[in-house]
Amino acid sequence: MNIESFFRFTYGIYIVSSSDRSSKNGYVSNTVFQVTSEPPQLAVSCHKNNLTTDFIRKSRKFSVSVMNQNTDSALIALFGYRSGRDENKFAATRHISGKTGSPIVTQDALAWFECEVENEFDLGSHILFIGKVVDCDLLDETNKPMTYAWYREVKKALSPKNSPTYIDPAKKKKESSPANSTKRHQCLACSFIYDPAVGDPEGGIPPGTAFEDIPDDWVCPVCGATKDMFEVMV
Ligand code: FE
Repeated sequence: MNIESFFRFTYGIYIVSSSDRSSKNGYVSNTVFQVTSEPPQLAVSCHKNNLTTDFIRKSRKFSVSVMNQNTDSALIALFGYRSGRDENKFAATRHISGKTGSPIVTQDALAWFECEVENEFDLGSHILFIGKVVDCDLLDETNKPMTYAWYREVKKALSPKNSPTYIDPAKKKKESSPANSTKRHQCLACSFIYDPAVGDPEGGIPPGTAFEDIPDDWVCPVCGATKDMFEVMV
């Protein structure tokens, strides 16, 4: 199999959100599709490890925000590469509450949909939820939707590990060499490159610091992604 074939599929970039009684959570998804128009239904594929998946299974409702092409990298990093188990992603994110009570991200969104779960299918690593649209609105008629292809090309970003389209770099044909102290590392969320020769002085990392020697609590100076979201450049 030539796994590059999978990169020829086209997708959008969305934030799928849900809540339980006391918390809200959401994550970046590229697998959201309209599957019927009468009634209007959407399908979303959610990793079983995602906190949002737990919330959708319990509440039987979710929202989908269609993100614009200029979506802030920090917002993508927050919802795409960090866990709601560690922080409240909605604390500083503009959002509204829908008629079902689902949180709906409005920040950098073109449109949103609110759904009630009609069906779910166990896909092994993921659950496919079929949701009936109970409400929706258009927020921005001028901007373009962000596509996954654009995100990959322009941002040089890779799928988060829980994405249905994530491919383990170890399985790629490209040979990767082991990290060492002179290797540059790239943020998978925003494409920022950490160069040991430069360091990150504003983040307290002096020039000459190998990536491996950076403290684990250091985050990407551009988007806030954590250190484990960096990949060695080959
Ligand atoms: Fe980053």
